[in-house]
Amino acid sequence: MRTEQWIDGRFEVGQGEPEPVLEPATGEVWTQVPSASVDQVDRAVQAAERAFATWSRTPPRERSALLLRLAEAIEARADELARIEARNCGKPLAAVRRDELPAVVDVFRYFAGAVRCLQGSAAGEYAAGHTSFIRRDPVGVVGAVTPWNYPLLMAAWKMAPALGAGNTVVLKPSEQTPLTTLQLAEIAADILPPGVLHVVTGRGESVGAALVAHPRVRMVSLTGDVSTGQKVLAAAAGNLKRTHLELGGKAPVLIFEDVDVGEVARAIRTFGFYNAGQDCTAACRIYVQRRVYERFVAELAAQVSTLRMGAPFDEGVELGPLVSGPQRERVEGFVQRAAATGHIQVVTGGQRGRGVGFFFEPTVLADARQEDEVVQREVFGPVVSVTPFADVEEAIAWANDSEYGLASSVWTHQVGRALRVAAELRYGCTWINTHFLLVSEMPHGGLKRSGYGKDLSMYALEDYTVVRHIMVRHAAQSA
Ligand code: NAD
Repeated sequence: MRTEQWIDGRFEVGQGEPEPVLEPATGEVWTQVPSASVDQVDRAVQAAERAFATWSRTPPRERSALLLRLAEAIEARADELARIEARNCGKPLAAVRRDELPAVVDVFRYFAGAVRCLQGSAAGEYAAGHTSFIRRDPVGVVGAVTPWNYPLLMAAWKMAPALGAGNTVVLKPSEQTPLTTLQLAEIAADILPPGVLHVVTGRGESVGAALVAHPRVRMVSLTGDVSTGQKVLAAAAGNLKRTHLELGGKAPVLIFEDVDVGEVARAIRTFGFYNAGQDCTAACRIYVQRRVYERFVAELAAQVSTLRMGAPFDEGVELGPLVSGPQRERVEGFVQRAAATGHIQVVTGGQRGRGVGFFFEPTVLADARQEDEVVQREVFGPVVSVTPFADVEEAIAWANDSEYGLASSVWTHQVGRALRVAAELRYGCTWINTHFLLVSEMPHGGLKRSGYGKDLSMYALEDYTVVRHIMVRHAAQSA
């Protein structure tokens, strides 16, 4: 398994601090990854800039063919990648195999097609005797910074459109989960020209900060916390880098009284607790119309208590540990403060799981109020809050009363109501009678403090390109 940095077509040992990489199901150190030094980050960026000259002029057809080869090579090693991801993140292996690896492969295949279909507006004569047309060109060196919750998928979301569009990429995975990204570098080493992709690992405040502040990096793409987004923006000010920020979320889920309560509770059992709730779109802030509220809470508690918690390789496991000790303490803190309010009921879960890993029981907190911390702040763990609402106006007002704006869902069989609510919600995505489902053809991204910039879809390709205007005077210049 790779633990070296991938810089300028070579694997080399990191010259920075060694970073312990844990196995969340046991809490033990799995391996050490020596971090990149500032000098290594600099060399990666310089090499990426050199490679840009050729890569940006490589015809889309050829870049597309290489993305397709990458997809195929990832697919061929899917099992190995899934095992490393599951062990390093604590995720159930079956879910990584079933959901994440196919999604990673599909993202490369989608962008392999999409880069051949980039369109500009029509050429025309907008000033007499002159023809104008539009080019969409790559931005330059992209510094891509990814979080720990879906390391390989987030790497794919950034690499595929950025490389496909003709940029070169220096990718920094989370220091907690760098292993599959380094394996991906090994796969790409046999396929991509040297210098087009680099992977440097290490902490955000050292390696990440060096990358995002580098004057030769022209764009930074971050998926991470809101506070990290703010730091990236400040660092980007230096040379006015383009930024693409996918930050936190606190998805509201509006459940109206006409639904099949049991069916929706079963859906929330999945959509609220997938990846142990460590998901920026998790269905975690649930509002239920009063008439069905009590029934829904009872049904949800019953459903959630059947979630099978365990280690990644256990048979039938649905919920793994949290990624780290501090993450579990953070989640536990939210639950304890919620319970201490006196009005919030812990109807199931609420405790650490047994055993040595960073387990926390799937938890339902009922009777939460709009102003409660657990309703307002992102927990990023297996914890959902449930709040009763009176009518559609109250539901919309509470759903929108959030600093986040990433994902939301509305559950009702009344088409008009569903569409009206969807129109009024201030979120990058609203699902109707479902939650969570992403497809490569449709954009994913937020509003407000959830950031901006779109992943997936043609909109991502637009984000990783710049619009240029070329104007031609018809008459030749007189000598
Ligand atoms: P994080 O912000 O702590 O770290 C994300 C990445 O940024 C890591 O690689 C980290 O090393 C790096 N980083 C940290 N400080 C940095 C700095 N000063 N300069 C440059 N890089 C720096 O987030 P996390 O804890 O890894 O991930 C969880 C967060 O990610 C949650 O808030 C979650 O909502 C968010 N997230 C958002 C989406 C989305 O699509 N909107 C998807 C997944 C996760």
